[in-house]
Amino acid sequence: KKPVPRDIDIAHAHEPINIQHIAEEIGIYPSELIPYGAKKGKVSLSILDRLQERKDAKYIIVVGITPTPLGEGKTTTSVGLGQALAAHKGVNALVTLRQPSLGPMFGVKGGAAGGGYAQVIPMEEFNIHLTGDLHAITVANNLVAAQLDARIYHEATQKDDALYNRLVPEIKGTRKFSDIQLRRLKKLGITKTNPNELTAEEKTRFARLDIDPKSVTLKRVLDISDRYLRKITIGQSPTEKNLTRETGFQITVASEIMAILALATDLKNFRERIASMVVAFNKKGEPVTVDDLGVTGAVMIILKETMYPTLMQTLEGSPVLVHAGPFANIAHGCSSILADKVGLKLAGEQGYVITEGGFGSDIGMEKLLNIKTRVSGHVPNCIVLVCSVRALKMHGGGPPVTPGQPLASAYTQENLELLQKGLPNLIKHISNGKKFGLPVVVCVNTFETDTEAELKLVQSKAKENGAFDAVVGNHWAEGGAGAVKLADAVIAACEQKSNFKFLYELDKTLEEKIKIIATEMYGAGSITYTPEAAAKLKTYQERGFGKLPICMAKTSASLTGDPAVKGAPTGFELKINDVTLSAGAGFVVPIIGEISVMPGLPTRPNFFDMDVNIETGVIEGLF
Ligand code: ADP
Ligand code: MG
Repeated sequence: KKPVPRDIDIAHAHEPINIQHIAEEIGIYPSELIPYGAKKGKVSLSILDRLQERKDAKYIIVVGITPTPLGEGKTTTSVGLGQALAAHKGVNALVTLRQPSLGPMFGVKGGAAGGGYAQVIPMEEFNIHLTGDLHAITVANNLVAAQLDARIYHEATQKDDALYNRLVPEIKGTRKFSDIQLRRLKKLGITKTNPNELTAEEKTRFARLDIDPKSVTLKRVLDISDRYLRKITIGQSPTEKNLTRETGFQITVASEIMAILALATDLKNFRERIASMVVAFNKKGEPVTVDDLGVTGAVMIILKETMYPTLMQTLEGSPVLVHAGPFANIAHGCSSILADKVGLKLAGEQGYVITEGGFGSDIGMEKLLNIKTRVSGHVPNCIVLVCSVRALKMHGGGPPVTPGQPLASAYTQENLELLQKGLPNLIKHISNGKKFGLPVVVCVNTFETDTEAELKLVQSKAKENGAFDAVVGNHWAEGGAGAVKLADAVIAACEQKSNFKFLYELDKTLEEKIKIIATEMYGAGSITYTPEAAAKLKTYQERGFGKLPICMAKTSASLTGDPAVKGAPTGFELKINDVTLSAGAGFVVPIIGEISVMPGLPTRPNFFDMDVNIETGVIEGLF
């Protein structure tokens, strides 16, 4: 067998097809493509109007078992399946993927364009900058944060009259409210529209958001893993008159705006979600929104182009839409609804759209179905559950798997006993998928050292335990040709009648919904809350956020809240440490254990291998 070259060498050996040809082949009109050079382009959402009568394609979600820290190949399988369907089965097939963050790319995990012969190209453009959406989200978020602190400052340093007169200045002898100010008046129940007619009390109520600085939930963001920004103090210049405040940065992909981009269904919905983001509470405990800060319009201007998904291609020339990349812990971890919408229309009734749910089924799939599908209405036809022999061996009690270190011999030599012991993890994830009433196709993503007997064991146990089918995928080493069996199984599964149901209904209380997820998806026996978490949950329930779905923030390394616990334990206690509200994205986030929203750089970051070749100008060392 020929060894498989490094991801970047495979990618560089393929000359991408001009993106306008890719667009033409799947029926995007030239007027609907906004090219960013020759290899990628944004797709205008006007295409949705043109194709609105067309029936949707079949919708396939690729999810995983509880992974090792190396990742078990969900993205690689999504891309490989897209290649198999499009280039080998001759059907319309389009993959929708998240745009990766630069933090993990430079830090530990590496790129996110798939791997081996199942990749999105150009992989360096996919991984770095792409079409600038992450930059725009960073700026938009930080503009809101800047306005929030500026407003606290202005309110603290000006008397009522002066504040009102500055907010509604007299220009050429008249005072006028702007549209966004009229919205605030309406919210306050003030019906007057002439600024001079407000009573003193109304003027004060209008002018003072009265933000409680301790209640601010919005953080500034940056798309870099910078641990020293996790906790900082701002406002230390004398110009801010001692109005210092403790806060911190999150990585951009953890921002609520990123989650909103991924969940928005059109421009109007996007705007409504941005406007209703709760960024702080006032001193009476009432929510303060982006619209209250007057910054909705500016944010929309910055973000307008981010609404368009970016068209790219696989190594075999099939289409990929890259759009949004919310974190899978604090947010829901799926690419955008808009990209899926465009894809489902483009691929059409006979076609297929493949998308990924981050992490294991307990997290990525649960949120994809209970949050994303609930908003989009896109009900999947089948679930592809990716597993690897190495991860199952880890669940069977194998030694820890550490990035950057060679795998222990338990993983590189046949060990059916260890594998057998790890199978309950796979079986739990199969049952998780089936709880939603969907057929589950297990794909064993083969690694070079897997043996025939190991692959057979996983396949037969998967089928015995409720999988619709279980196939071996060799797309990493062979590209689409290695995923034809998977494609056949998926096509057959999509012919099944769907009995889809949500895991919970929205009218249950927040606590009831959390309990259903914890017991049904994780196997927990009981749930406990810290007093802060219980108090916040009560507040959100009382303030009208009780009907929102739940976005659990839990470690991806275990079905439990403890990353060290492997396998598929049951009856354990799940402890909720904190709860946060993402009112614009539209979910409540219970936090289990320590969830990092700002990663740090490791001692040996990936970028030690990276450079631009000064002779050829080509990027080297990404993987
Ligand atoms: P996930 O999406 O589940 O996190 P990825 O598809 O990104 O996982 O794969 C993680 C890493 O593992 C990538 O660097 C990829 O190239 C590599 N990889 C995936 N499948 C295989 C395989 N079968 N053999 C070797 N390496 C693989
Ligand atoms: Mg992935």
